[in-house]
Order: sequence, then C-alpha cells, then structure tokens
Amino acid sequence: MSQQTETLFNELSSLDKKHILHPSTNPKLQSETGPKLIFTSGEGIYLKDMRGKTYIDGVSMLWNVNLGHGVKELAEASYEQMIKAAYTTTFYGYSNEASVRLAEKIAEVSPGDLNTIFYTSGGSESNDTAFKLSRFYWDLKGKKDKKIIISLKRGYHGVTVATQRATGIEAYREFSGSKDPNIVNAKPHLTECELGDKSHPEYEGSIRSIIEKEGADKIAAVIVEPIQGAGGVHVPPEGYLQAVRKLCDEFNIHMIADEVICGFGRTGKMFGVDHWDVVPDFMSIAKGMTSGYAQLGGVLMTEEIRDAFNTFDGMLAHGFTYSGHPTACAVGLKNIEILERDGLIENARVMGDELKKGLDYLEDKYAFVGNTRSRGLLAGFDLMEDPEAGKPFAGSIKAAATVVEESYKRELLIRPFDFTPGMNIVAIAPPLIVQKDEVEKIIAI
Ligand code: PLP
Repeated sequence: MSQQTETLFNELSSLDKKHILHPSTNPKLQSETGPKLIFTSGEGIYLKDMRGKTYIDGVSMLWNVNLGHGVKELAEASYEQMIKAAYTTTFYGYSNEASVRLAEKIAEVSPGDLNTIFYTSGGSESNDTAFKLSRFYWDLKGKKDKKIIISLKRGYHGVTVATQRATGIEAYREFSGSKDPNIVNAKPHLTECELGDKSHPEYEGSIRSIIEKEGADKIAAVIVEPIQGAGGVHVPPEGYLQAVRKLCDEFNIHMIADEVICGFGRTGKMFGVDHWDVVPDFMSIAKGMTSGYAQLGGVLMTEEIRDAFNTFDGMLAHGFTYSGHPTACAVGLKNIEILERDGLIENARVMGDELKKGLDYLEDKYAFVGNTRSRGLLAGFDLMEDPEAGKPFAGSIKAAATVVEESYKRELLIRPFDFTPGMNIVAIAPPLIVQKDEVEKIIAI
C-alpha cells in the first residue's frame, strides 16, 4: 500500500469511526478499530478494497448481488432513466413507465396469479407491507379480528418493529425491546404437525397448534422463507411448504412467502416456492430484484386479493416515498432481462451442484464440517464439535467466526451465523455468474 493510500485509508477510517453507526456490527469494536475493509470497486465475483487486496465475494455481499459486480448494462439503465427525470411519485394515481414495465415482467415470471405488486424500497418494508395488506384484506372482508402473523423460529424477515418481531432469531427479535403483540413465533419445519399429526412430540408450538390455540378468526397470515437464510440456511423437508399452503387454505389464513433472499434465481429457480409448486397469497421480494444496484422491493399479491382491494373506495393509506422509483425499476427490469438472456438461473442450478459437491467433499474430509446443505447457490454448513453425536460447537465457541476469519485472510468473504447458542453455521452464496473454477477456488480456500 502506498503512503498516499495509507493516509487516505486512515483518514476515512477515523471519519467512519466518528460519524457512522454501522448496522449488524459491534459498535464498541467498530469505534475502536474502524472499518475492516473499505471497498472501492468490483468485477464479477470479485471485490477490491482500498488497500489493494482482491476478495471473492462469497455471499454476494448480503445475498443480493446476484449478477455480480461491475455490470455496465445496469449502470447504463440507471443513467438513462435518471437523466429523464430525477424521480416521479406513484402516489396519488401518478405513474411512470419503468414501474409499469417491471410490474408486468414480474407478474410474468412469478408463480400463479401473483399479478399485482406494491413497491417498496427493501425487504423489511416488503414484509411489513405484506402484514398490513393481509390485515387490511381481512378488515375489508369484515374479519377485523384477524391480526396475528405467525412466523417461524430461525426465520429472518427484517428490522422494522413488526418484522423484527416476526424474526425468529433472538438477537434481532429482542433488540431494543420493541414489541408487536400480534406476532407469534412457531417452531420451525415440522411437516407432520402442519399436516395434522398431533402425536408428534413437538406438536406444541407448531403452526397448527398455534392456530388451534389462538383461533383462526384471530390469525391473518403465516410468513415463511421458502429456504431460511439468515437463520443459518435451512432447506425445509420435502412437503413442508405444501403442508403450510394446505394449512392456510384449511383455516382461511394468508400464506406470505418471504422471497427476499430466494427470489430472482438464487436457488436455481426464479423463486424459492417454484421448487415445490406452491403459490402463496403474498410474496415479498427485494435484494436480487436489482442485484443490489438500486434499492427496491415489493409485495406481490394474487388477483383475488387485488380484486378485494379494488372494492375499497377510500385512500390506501400506505406507501413509501420511493415506492416504484423509476430509476430502481429500470434497473430491476434490466436485471431480469440479463438473468434470462444469460441463462443465469440455470447457471445457479449447475454451479450450485458443483458447490454442493465441494461441500460434501469437505464434509467427508473434515469431521468438523457437518450438515452441508444447499439449493442452487444458497449453501451452508455446521461446524461440529461432536460429529458422531451430530452436535455443533456451542455458540460460545466461535468456530464459524474462526473459519470465516481464516477465509478472510485467504481473500474469501463468507458469513458466520453464531448469534444464537448452539449455532455455528457458515453460509456461502456467490453471485449467480460464478464459474466452475471459481467454485473450486472457494472450496479450496
Ligand atoms: N427477508 C429476508 C429473508 C431477508 O434475508 C432480509 C434481509 O436480509 C429481509 C427480509 C430484510 O430485507 P432488508 O434488509 O432489505 O430490509
């Protein structure tokens, strides 16, 4: 690193320490050490930092840079839209072409008749909106008591007051003592329970048992990630999503699929629910919707729900300044065009198989690697203290953080999940453009 670069890094580092409070970061450590990396540019699956090192972006930053870094076509789409107009609102019946074209395209690639979108700026806003729209639908149907949202343990749905309560990861759920009493956390992934097996030892606390306890007339919706991401990459057992769909139909409850990570090809299909042919009532999207090149999200809804909203003769008192932002929508449209044109969903499937093969090889070779799991390019594994007993390292032993730190030293960025006791998980989710030799490099590191 040249003297000049070092001086600039030190300057930015001390300004950062003084002026920025970082999300999902240890503030004490941050205020002492400053930023670990200051990124400057990226190309494909690689990211450069100011001090001249090049890292493999092994988790697509926050599982969102699906097309990889440095895609000029996305920058151009943004520029071309931006010079036409800074921003025009979609409030008060105004519209813009980019938001209309993107809505049409997303309806085309989405399952079933999820043909209407409500735009947001990100995943938390999408899920928050889904909760509100679900409750609003039941209000319109004269079922004003249907307010409860059931979510799963280990699920991650965002950080607004409502979505943090729906998040089944304690650190986020309990942060700052915010409470939304209408959100109930169920046990994760108990297929038999959802299908009605009351003799299952874990029936108590399952979605079905909560519905029976609270009463279906008090429950608006169940929210699930098709594959859980931030809770540690958990692929549901076969039949699980179908069982939740059936359960929601049986009790007249909405099913919300949180596709914020899974959507737009990450798992080797356009959407996570496509693996199980399930059509939810609402579907939350964000992240890969623009591959991170612009802030955009949305909630899709079925035609039946949209038709119900069309009977409301008043103001839909919900919306974000940037709902349907034309620049973000232009980027979103180009993002899907590239995803389809370059066969990247298929690439995610094929490279996902390579990644799984590599992880299985590691599991065979090293006793401390266990429970490797993936779908497409969304993968994770546990760090095992006692592989024979199937026991991961306890949360107080930072095994995942150690593996991630060692990878970092070897210029690979991956993510540890160890914020809950008994959880020592590493996640890998490279951009969908990743090639075989690059997957091999990740595994070798
Ligand atoms: N839902 C899921 C499944 C997520 O993984 C995330 C973020 O990681 C969110 C919602 C929240 O999205 P955002 O951070 O854009 O608000």
